[in-house]
Amino acid sequence: MAERLAGKAVADAMKEELTKKVEEIKAKGITPKLGIIRVGARPDDLFYEGGAKKTCEAIGMAYEVFEYPADVDQESFEKAVTAVGDNTEVHGILMFAPLPKHLDERKIRSLIPVDKDVDCMTLGSAAKVFADDLTGFPPCTPTACMDILHHYNIPIKGKKCVVLGRSLVVGKPVAMLLLRENGTVTICHSRTENLPAVCADADILIAAVGRAKMVTADYVKAGQVVIDVGINEDPDNPGKYVGDVDYAACEPIVDKITPVPGGVGSVTTVVLCKQTIQACEMQNGLA
Ligand code: NAP
Repeated sequence: MAERLAGKAVADAMKEELTKKVEEIKAKGITPKLGIIRVGARPDDLFYEGGAKKTCEAIGMAYEVFEYPADVDQESFEKAVTAVGDNTEVHGILMFAPLPKHLDERKIRSLIPVDKDVDCMTLGSAAKVFADDLTGFPPCTPTACMDILHHYNIPIKGKKCVVLGRSLVVGKPVAMLLLRENGTVTICHSRTENLPAVCADADILIAAVGRAKMVTADYVKAGQVVIDVGINEDPDNPGKYVGDVDYAACEPIVDKITPVPGGVGSVTTVVLCKQTIQACEMQNGLA
């Protein structure tokens, strides 16, 4: 039976540490603050926003939601995003994407200052992540994967790490973070040949493919660590969520595995707060 790498234990330990850090910063007269930019009211965005607010409250951070109607025009929204970026009380910005189709998302993303870009919305942040410049923030989900590996003392150096998925939000940045820690990294995608065999060769397998229960028993091996990033509606149980890994099939084989729900997703909002606190420290010369 595999060790279950629960996200809650990771999130709780991080929250304890961040609470102390926020107290230290507040003692210097500064309150770290997250600015959340939301257009419209998509249920997924509202759900994530609720989690982010709860985490901010739990660790004593401030937050403010900047909410705009779904039909906001490009010019007004550009002004609004620029104003949030210029607001010296806001240290980190989360902007929900995708934006409605009528907005030029590429242009709007570029208006977020890189030093406040705590979820890697800008090309400037992505460049820093790829260049190992530690002043650039990776997207929260890849950082959450790394925080889980660190919390459970899973060695990365020299290990074969296979990342299933090559999106800019998860696959590519998590591959860079594993490489930064001297993992030997392979990135797989929809054109990869012999995919199950490539995945089964990994010491650490990160599944970020967006396909419910795609990773079956033939993708894994004994001794492996499996991090499941996927959040998909369960085709067999509408209304319930499952990962990219078929947990029931893989759990008896591998050494360690994250559950869905209760794995990576439980850590991402804490990472959002952690990166906002780091941004606050950098902006105030405290880092
Ligand atoms: P995405 O942009 O759709 O990318 C999926 C990747 O998987 C692509 O690189 C695609 O390859 C690859 N892929 C798709 N089907 C494949 C197949 N049959 N075989 C091999 N590779 C295949 O998805 P994403 O945004 O990275 O998200 C991935 C998953 O993570 C989703 O379930 C999403 O809901 C979840 N997620 C979770 C969190 C969290 O906090 N836990 C945050 C973000 C995302 P190609 O490039 O070749 O098309």
